[in-house]
Amino acid sequence: MSRPLTSLVRPELLGIAAYVPGKPIETLLRETGVSEVLKYASNENPLGPSPLAIAAARDALAGLHRYADAGAVALREALAAHLGVTPAEVLPTCGSNEMILLACQAFLRPDDEVVVHDPSFLMYDIAVRSFGARTVKVRRPDLGIHLGAVAEAVGPRTRMVIVCNPNNPTGDIVSFEALSAFVQSLPADVLVAVDEAYCEFVEDAGYGTAIPLLAKHPERPILVLRTFSKAHALAGLRVGYGVAHPDLISVFDRIRQPFNVNGVAQAAALASLGDRDQVQRSVALVREQRAWLDPALRELGAEVRPGHGNFVFCRFPLDMRPVCAALEKHGLVVRPLMPFGLTPDYVRVTYGTAEENHRLVEALREALRDAAAPVPVRP
Ligand code: PMP
Repeated sequence: MSRPLTSLVRPELLGIAAYVPGKPIETLLRETGVSEVLKYASNENPLGPSPLAIAAARDALAGLHRYADAGAVALREALAAHLGVTPAEVLPTCGSNEMILLACQAFLRPDDEVVVHDPSFLMYDIAVRSFGARTVKVRRPDLGIHLGAVAEAVGPRTRMVIVCNPNNPTGDIVSFEALSAFVQSLPADVLVAVDEAYCEFVEDAGYGTAIPLLAKHPERPILVLRTFSKAHALAGLRVGYGVAHPDLISVFDRIRQPFNVNGVAQAAALASLGDRDQVQRSVALVREQRAWLDPALRELGAEVRPGHGNFVFCRFPLDMRPVCAALEKHGLVVRPLMPFGLTPDYVRVTYGTAEENHRLVEALREALRDAAAPVPVRP
């Protein structure tokens, strides 16, 4: 009998579970035959991209026969000006997912450790394990980000810690002051990666980006990750970036794919960066809908965690699997959180538009009522 081909790949890869995305709209259309799907499962932006970004993307289509600018120079320069850093400190990537992978590729050797608070974004563990390293997950009963506990879990094999701020899926944040003290408490050879995918949506006055820590601690390895997928509504084009000391950026730059950010994506991201109004509208919508949807979900019986992203983390007093299935039959997708190692009573809901959120609450009310109804006993 022949050996399975999987016996030929690195054995540490075989235990990695595939990333579980929010259910794709195309899948639901195919499975249920509904004519419209409202997706609250992937923290996408319901307003859509800036018209300037769409126009720039359309113009860039005429150049599809050429490779893109390999250095993404215009985007890099615009990002640097926007962030108040130099272009040598910025690297545009294919979504911030690519930046996570590049950091792992650059820093991790087999059996190294990466410490992350838990639950958090699923890609960290996949990226870490794909380089033969181990994720040390720090989970406390309140599911919060406990930087002290994360620091305590750092050991001789630790090469990296990841702080997701705001955190996906809980929506929790840590203050700039706490993050700054945390960075200084760590051994100076441990990379601190701060994922700020949702930073634009935070209102809390104590919150701040980790970018000033780069200038404050030039001797320390610090990496800030950002994305155009959320506030800029360009998830489908895959643009993110890393901000770090030029020495680190130059390493990431050398090991990335030559044309990692395609030309259409570069053009759209650049135009979107110039449209602050559109980002402001997206942020205002999230803040307004947070104030509306959170109490509405509480009224339906959920424990709702006050969050800071474009989504809300909630726990219902029942197994939500049948409820999610019922919602899907109506074309509404929320995110069950079992892939994050949570029980089936937890779900994450992305804020939609006012109208979409009203529809969700009404559908949820009905689905919860049906799920709670006693099963009729046949005579
Ligand atoms: N970081 C976090 C915390 C996320 O939630 C996501 C997307 N869901 C990403 C990174 C990846 O974003 P992208 O690759 O689209 O930039």
